[in-house]
Amino acid sequence: AAAARNYDEVRARYGQVPGGMYGADENCREGFDGPRQGTETCSFVEIMHSHEILLRVSGDCLWADRCEEVAFNSFPPSLTPDLKGLHYLTCPNQIQCDRANKAPMIENGGDMMSYSPYEQYRCCQHNVAFGWPYFAEHLWMATPGNGLAAAMYAPSKVTAKVGDGTTVTIDEKTDYPFDGVIEFTFSMARSVRFPLTLRIPGWCKLAYVNINGSAQEPVSSRWVVYDRKWSDGDKLRLELPMEISTQVWTKNRSSVSVHRGPLTYSLKIGEKWQEYDNGRPWAAYEVFPTTPWNYGLIIDSRDPAASFEFSRTGVRVGQQPFRPEAAPIMLKAKGKRIPEWQQESNGLIGEIQESPVRSDQPVEAITLIPMGCARLRITAFPRIGDGPDAKTWQKLPPKPALAASHCNPVDSIQAAADGVVPKNSADLFVGRFTWWPHRGTSEWIEWALNEPRTIGSCEVYWFDDSGVGSCRVPKSWTVEYRPKAGGPWTAVKNTSPYGVEKDGFNKVTFEPVDAARVRIRVELQPEFSGGIMEWRIGE
Ligand SMILES: [Zn+2]
Repeated sequence: AAAARNYDEVRARYGQVPGGMYGADENCREGFDGPRQGTETCSFVEIMHSHEILLRVSGDCLWADRCEEVAFNSFPPSLTPDLKGLHYLTCPNQIQCDRANKAPMIENGGDMMSYSPYEQYRCCQHNVAFGWPYFAEHLWMATPGNGLAAAMYAPSKVTAKVGDGTTVTIDEKTDYPFDGVIEFTFSMARSVRFPLTLRIPGWCKLAYVNINGSAQEPVSSRWVVYDRKWSDGDKLRLELPMEISTQVWTKNRSSVSVHRGPLTYSLKIGEKWQEYDNGRPWAAYEVFPTTPWNYGLIIDSRDPAASFEFSRTGVRVGQQPFRPEAAPIMLKAKGKRIPEWQQESNGLIGEIQESPVRSDQPVEAITLIPMGCARLRITAFPRIGDGPDAKTWQKLPPKPALAASHCNPVDSIQAAADGVVPKNSADLFVGRFTWWPHRGTSEWIEWALNEPRTIGSCEVYWFDDSGVGSCRVPKSWTVEYRPKAGGPWTAVKNTSPYGVEKDGFNKVTFEPVDAARVRIRVELQPEFSGGIMEWRIGE
């Protein structure tokens, strides 16, 4: 009861999203509970195992349903399809897996989303390999009366002593979770009586069982027991009809998710896998979207399921079905784009806003694939509406247009002007811009103002990780500008010194100039790199 209460409370507060998990991109945090928050790969493995243990202890089917939900939807895309690489955070809505720092929207700083085969994700490397083996161990369980229970479903084979101690082997063939038909074939040296128990998942209203060609009573309970004499060659066919359903997440901006049987569905987004050089034999990847993703769904509120059309793709369920091109099934849906829904400056998807959402864009046919197949995905969708309750999506403020002589790929240029002020110059929990690994060089960062204007000061909060890394405040710096008309970069005439203090803003004032572009030039200290936590331009 305590475990059930804990589960309900965590999901209610931080898990109002599809995929069976909750936002914990290190910790659960108040105010960071939308579908773009991530869950650590370790958490998938550990919660699946917790659910398996609770199933064993309690016999309550709910835990098996919950385990399958995580195993089939959230866990697979935490890994690359070849299982060599993984990332730290998998999110219901995740449209880019790049290396840039997304703190503080994501709690941890640094690279949390690119796929790496190496130790950068610490704990997850050790946990991830246990996910499927633990799951496989719990497909079959022993029951009272020396019987067997099929507790969760996957292609498998079990050999066990049952009934009076006779050894039986049951061969389970199925395309589950992509299909609801599961066939069991029994082999044994001599016939034996024992109870065979089958789990009927909570999403299945009525299950059909056929034993050796003879239809049994349709089953609406959660467990069904066939206590009979089984013989070599017996066949049992279980059919779990899968229906399309939608879920509205009222506590998460009334976003909507789409389900069929144990699978949740995501928008299919084109994936561009870009290898990055980690100087090691197995590749690491960033993944970028190649097709639009900012869709809201058009759903018939009287009959939501009728808004989707299920079909098979013609691809047979293979060894690794959890990748977009291997998805054996899909849903056709209708949607409209929401042009104001954009990525934030750090590459993170803009947070979802309250549905229904108004859109003047054309209706488009879109494809949904199983969430587990999608490394890039929208799973919590806005719902398109045109009634009086439909809302206009609020645009994000325009991003500062920044460029630099160089930026470390795991940092971000945009972090230099994201409005987030660090606790100190070594604060690793907020985004930063650095010229790493350039050392002792002359570098610059430039800001193209949205509108040319008169400026008279700049404030710079330097990054300096003395004691941890090799970034320091610069040896010296200057501010330059270009007017709207263009021409060469000109140094401002400063009326106060160029400061290089740590742990606060260094404000330089200068004779006002009309600027269209502003540039900071730095000379890095010999042997050291450097960077900027935050930069402000003033009157
Ligand atoms: Zn971990």
